[in-house]
Amino acid sequence: MSLERQLAAERRARLAAERILAQKEADLNAANAKLADYAQHLSSAIQQTRAQVENFRNENTKFRTDLQNVSQKARATEQRLWHAIASLKDGFVIYDSCDRLVMANRMFAKMFDEIEDIQPGMSLTSLLMVAADQGIIKLGEQGAEEWLAEMLACHADPTLPAPMCQLWNGKFVRIINRRSPFGDLVSLYADVTESQNSEEDLRDARRRAEAASRAKSAFLANMSHELRTPMNGVVGMAELLQETVLTEEQRVFVDTICGSGNALLTIINDVLDYSKIEAEMLVLRSDPFDLETCIHEVMRLLQPLAKEKNLSLLVDYDLFLPTQFLGDSGRIRQIFTNLIGNAVKFTNAGHVLVQIVGTYDAPSQTAQIHAVVQDTGIGIPAKHVSQIFERFHQVEERQNRQFEGTGLGLAISKRLVEMMTGSIWVVSEEGQGSSFGVQFPLPVDPSANLAAPQLPKDIGHVLIVDDEIANRDLIARRIQQMGAQATGVSCTGSALDNAAGADLVLARHDLPGCDCLGLVTAMRNAGVRVPVLVFSSSSGLIELTANDVKTPLEIRGRLGNPFTNRELLAKLASTSDTENGADPADADRKLRVLAADDNKTNRLVLEKMLNSCDIVLKLVADGQAAVEAYHAFKPDVIFMDISMPVLDGRAASGLIRAKEKGRCPAVKIIALTAHVSEDDHKSILAAGINQVMTKPLNKQHLLATLEAADQERKMRLAAPINASRAS
Ligand code: ADP
Repeated sequence: MSLERQLAAERRARLAAERILAQKEADLNAANAKLADYAQHLSSAIQQTRAQVENFRNENTKFRTDLQNVSQKARATEQRLWHAIASLKDGFVIYDSCDRLVMANRMFAKMFDEIEDIQPGMSLTSLLMVAADQGIIKLGEQGAEEWLAEMLACHADPTLPAPMCQLWNGKFVRIINRRSPFGDLVSLYADVTESQNSEEDLRDARRRAEAASRAKSAFLANMSHELRTPMNGVVGMAELLQETVLTEEQRVFVDTICGSGNALLTIINDVLDYSKIEAEMLVLRSDPFDLETCIHEVMRLLQPLAKEKNLSLLVDYDLFLPTQFLGDSGRIRQIFTNLIGNAVKFTNAGHVLVQIVGTYDAPSQTAQIHAVVQDTGIGIPAKHVSQIFERFHQVEERQNRQFEGTGLGLAISKRLVEMMTGSIWVVSEEGQGSSFGVQFPLPVDPSANLAAPQLPKDIGHVLIVDDEIANRDLIARRIQQMGAQATGVSCTGSALDNAAGADLVLARHDLPGCDCLGLVTAMRNAGVRVPVLVFSSSSGLIELTANDVKTPLEIRGRLGNPFTNRELLAKLASTSDTENGADPADADRKLRVLAADDNKTNRLVLEKMLNSCDIVLKLVADGQAAVEAYHAFKPDVIFMDISMPVLDGRAASGLIRAKEKGRCPAVKIIALTAHVSEDDHKSILAAGINQVMTKPLNKQHLLATLEAADQERKMRLAAPINASRAS
C-alpha cells in the first residue's frame, strides 16, 4: 500500500476516531447534564427530607413536652384526688373485680380502729368478718352471720340498699356501694351520725308536738262542749222569743242575740274543725247516706235566707247517678253548707244552682262525684282567686265586707275534700258570679238500688206550673228523664188550658196573682179533676200542715222546693190508692216523736221548737223513762240525749234495739249531744243510734230531719206506687 493511501486511511481512521470521540463527548455531556439534573433533584429531595426530619424532630420534642405536661397534670390530679379522698370525713375503699382490697383512705382505717389486719389484698369477706369479730360494728340484736350475709348481698348487688351500721365509737355509717365499668367495687362509708342524731331529736320533737297538739285538740273539744251547752239555751231561747209578740225595739234586741249567738257558734265550730284537721285528728267516717237528700237538706236550711233575698235555689242531681253512698255525710254536708252558704251569702239577685253529675265505675263500685255550686253573685276579683282557699283569706272589698264570716270555711272545705282524695276549684268573674267545683270519689252503698227512678206507668204527662223559668225547666227535664211528657206553664191561666190533658199537675204554691188553691178551685169549676202536687220554697212541717192546703181533695200533697226524685215518688205513693193492705189511717196519722233529756232547759227549748209542728210529742227526763215510753207510746222518732242519769242515752238505745228485734220498721233514734269528738260519734253510732245532732239545736235542721223521717215512714207504708186520677 502506498503511503498516500496509508495516510488517507489513517486520516480517515483519525477522523472516525474524532467523530466517535465527539460522539462520546456529547454522550458524556448529556449524561453529565442528566446527572446534574438528578443531583439537583436529589439535593432538593434531601433538603425536603431534611426539613421534614427537622419538623418531625420538632414535633417529637413538642409531643415529649406535652406528654411530660400531661403526665405531670395526671400526677397532680391523682394526688389531688387522693388528697380529697384522704381528707373525706367519710370512709372510702376500693376493691378490685375479685373483691380484694386495693386501697382505703385514712378515715376508713380510723373507722376500723386502725387495726393492722386490714391490708391491701385482703378479701371483702375477711374484712367484714374482722369487723364483726373485733366489735368494729355494733351488731345489736342481729347475729354476726346474719349481718355478714346481708352485707355480702348488698355488696354483690350494689342496687340493694345497705343497712345502716353503728361503729364501735358510737358513730353511724351508711354504706353506699358502686361497681365501676372495670369491675372495681367502690364503697363509701358515709358518716350520718349528725343527721341520725338530729332525726332522733326531730322524732322526739315531733312526739312532743303531737302530744301537745293532742292536748290542744282535747282542750278545744272540751271547751267547745262547754261553750255549746249554754249556747243551746241562749240561741234556742232567743229563737223562741223571736216567735212571740214583741215590740219593735225588743225584736231588734232578740234578733241581735240570735245573730250574734249563731255567729259565735259558727266561729267555735270553724276554729274547732280547723284545729282538728291541723292536728291530723280528724278521721273521716264511712256510713251509708243519701247524697241527694243531704244536698237538699242543706238547701232547705238555706231557703229562709234565700227567700229573704228573693233568690231561687235550684238542684240538678243527675238522674242516672246513684244517690246512696258510703261516706262521711256530716263532712260532705259541711262542704256543701259552706259552698252553698257562701253562694247565697254573696248573691243579691238571681239564683244559686247546684249541679251534681258523676261517673259510676261498676268494678270498683265507686262513683266519681262532680258537683258545681254556681251563683249569680258579686264574684271574686281575679287577684284574689288564687288565694281564696287559704285560711283567713277574705276579699277585703267594700261589697264583700258587709258580710260576716271567719275566712275559714273554704280552707276547711279544701282540706276535707283533699282528705277524701278529691279536689276543689273556683271559676269566678267579678260582678258576674262564681262557680265552685268539687270532685271526689265515693263508694256506692252495696245495698243501693242502682235503677234510675221511674214515674208510675199511669203518669204519662205532667203539667208544671211555675213562674220561675229556671226551676220549671229543671223539673220538666227531670220528669222527662223519668219517662213522662212534661209541659211547663208560668201562670194559672195557661195551667187551666193545659190541665185536662195531664195526669198530674205540679204547681208552685205561691204563684203570682193567684195561689194554687185558686188554681185547684178554677180546675174544679171547669170540671178538670187531675191530682195536684204543690211545691213550696217555705220549708218545715208548719207549712206542710198549714190549713189552707191540708184537706182539699184535689191537692194530693205538698213538697218542699227543691225536692228530690225520691220525695216526689214518695209523695205520689203516699197519696195514691193503697192496694197493698197497709192501713191508710196509719199513713195519715201524725208522726210520733219521743224526746229524752235530763236538762229542763233543753227539754223546754225542744218543746218550743217543735210546738208549731203537727206531730205528737212526748218528753221524758232519763233513759229508763225513754225505754218505758218506747213500749207505751210507740214513737216513730226518738231524740235521745246521751249524758243522762239512771240510764244514759247509749244504754237506753241499746235496750230499745234489743227489744224491737224483728219489728219493722225500726224506730229512728237521733242522738242530741254537745260532745263532738270522733270517738264520741263512733260510740254513739255503735249503740244502734241512726244519727247524731249536735247542740245547740238548729230549728230548721230539726224540722227538715222530722220531715224526712215522715216522708220515709209514708213511703214505706204506701208502696206500691199508684197515683190514680181523681176523676
Ligand atoms: P267566710 O265566708 O266565712 O268569710 P270562706 O272561707 O267561706 O270564709 O270564704 C272566704 C272568702 O271567699 C269570703 O270572705 C269571700 O270574700 C270569698 N267568697 C267565697 N265564696 C264566694 C262566692 N260564692 N262569691 C263571692 N265571694 C266568695
